[in-house]
Amino acid sequence: MASATKYIFVTGGVTSSLGKGIIAASLAKLLQARGYSVTIQKLDPYINVDPGTLNPYEHGECFVTEDGAETDLDLGHYERFLNVNTSQANNVTTGRIYQSVINQEREGAFLGKTVQVIPHITDEIKRRIKLLGNTGNYDIVITEIGGTVGDIESLPYIEAVRQLKWEPNFDCIVLHLTLVPFLATSGELKTKPTQHSVKSLLESGVQPDILALRTEHKLTEGVKEKVALFCNISPDAVIQAIDAETIYDVPLLMKEEELDKVVLKKLNLEPKAEPSLDAWNSFLAKLKNPKHKITIGLVGKYIELKDSYKSIAEALIHAGANNEIDVELEWIHSESVNNANAQEKLNKLNGILVAPGFGERGIEGKIATVKYARENKVPFLGICLGMQCAVIEFARNVLNLKDAHSSEMDENTANPVIYLMEDQRDITNKGGTMRLGAYPCHISEGSKAYNAYQNTDITERHRHRYEFNNKYKNDFDNSGMKATGINPDNNLVEIVEVDNHPWFMGVQFHPEYKSTVLTPHPLFTEFVKASNSVKQENLASKY
Ligand code: GLN
Repeated sequence: MASATKYIFVTGGVTSSLGKGIIAASLAKLLQARGYSVTIQKLDPYINVDPGTLNPYEHGECFVTEDGAETDLDLGHYERFLNVNTSQANNVTTGRIYQSVINQEREGAFLGKTVQVIPHITDEIKRRIKLLGNTGNYDIVITEIGGTVGDIESLPYIEAVRQLKWEPNFDCIVLHLTLVPFLATSGELKTKPTQHSVKSLLESGVQPDILALRTEHKLTEGVKEKVALFCNISPDAVIQAIDAETIYDVPLLMKEEELDKVVLKKLNLEPKAEPSLDAWNSFLAKLKNPKHKITIGLVGKYIELKDSYKSIAEALIHAGANNEIDVELEWIHSESVNNANAQEKLNKLNGILVAPGFGERGIEGKIATVKYARENKVPFLGICLGMQCAVIEFARNVLNLKDAHSSEMDENTANPVIYLMEDQRDITNKGGTMRLGAYPCHISEGSKAYNAYQNTDITERHRHRYEFNNKYKNDFDNSGMKATGINPDNNLVEIVEVDNHPWFMGVQFHPEYKSTVLTPHPLFTEFVKASNSVKQENLASKY
């Protein structure tokens, strides 16, 4: 009997950053559009138990799932492409694998045996790979293996794939993504790195079934045939993955290359319907034919690595397309802004977004940015630390509590308008101990948040320790900063808005994690719309 769920492994060769996550998500999109139920899992070979403890400079943003897992940013792409939630089981690291094997060893589960990479670590990897399939919810599970084939730390994963390929009743194929570089001097596309990369997989006992070749230039049939011949692959299974204008074009490019058809054939699955991508195409049409253009400033301290704010940047793209507005992002380092230069640095912006973050660095620049946006009536969205900065700024400059701060930055402030909640005070472990995942929020009717959500009860994802201090709530309320979103279970403030301002909102949660191509997030949509309206009004008033 064939296994119910089929598996596709996606590996990468030659270099990192070839876009395995986007290829995996695009393939999943095409299979989903044919009527298959698909999910994607990411296996990360590093030893951190999860990326929650990683500085964004290392691997970019930490993505948070509904069930509160701190995960690799590729899971954000999976959700944005598929419009389906991922979970804790969709991201596994070497740290987590070893942690569970070592815990079992301490419990005596191995009965005196020597615990080894093979079979104990590989067994745990295989168990994690099968978890999603075993739920019975998916026809196809795509498992992306992080890193590059040939890395020492990837070896146990490749070995697990080799074992699974030989396992009875386990149907799987391997899609290997490599690079075909173009040598400008000779004007040639070179296949040798791909040949070597496949050889390296073969040394580990894994023959790929499909090759996707990242390339800057169109591949000739000759190149495809050569790769097919040297790498034991049928020529129709050599797929061109040419550089795309946007990541959202990749599913269409993969459809042209018939990647989905080849995959279904290799998995012995019915093609079902032709992929229906109408909604996706209408998103792309709006994205590429904007009627207006605005500039939004993204103020944060990790802007040297744009992946640190991946979900925010993508949410703004979704919101822009939804409004048929081209949203240009201006990345502004929070350490570079102060009250003296805010006007000069920020006056060209149509909207300002202050980003999430942790710790002292750049905090005064964020607060100066909020002041500028509030006083000059520039549409403003503050996310998590950005919301906390909005509260601190309002306390200092409107409530006149000059020393107001978050106790994260100043433990001894006399006015901790943002502070650590009781249940966080005794926590010393850093991993997975923040307030994480989806929590409910009740929204006041008549607020801008209500106008966006068109709903009084929503849930949003969280990742923070510090909170609005309710002791000050009435003072804020009486002076024009209203708490328009409250957690109904514990009264924590989730959303603040400022009166007499075209659009000023701070949210303790992370709306960016829930924005997808087919369901752009309402807060981003309204923020972009407000930024464009204010721009148009300002232009009109000049003439
Ligand atoms: N550092 C803040 C906290 O822990 C905000 C976190 C964030 O922006 N994600 O509450």
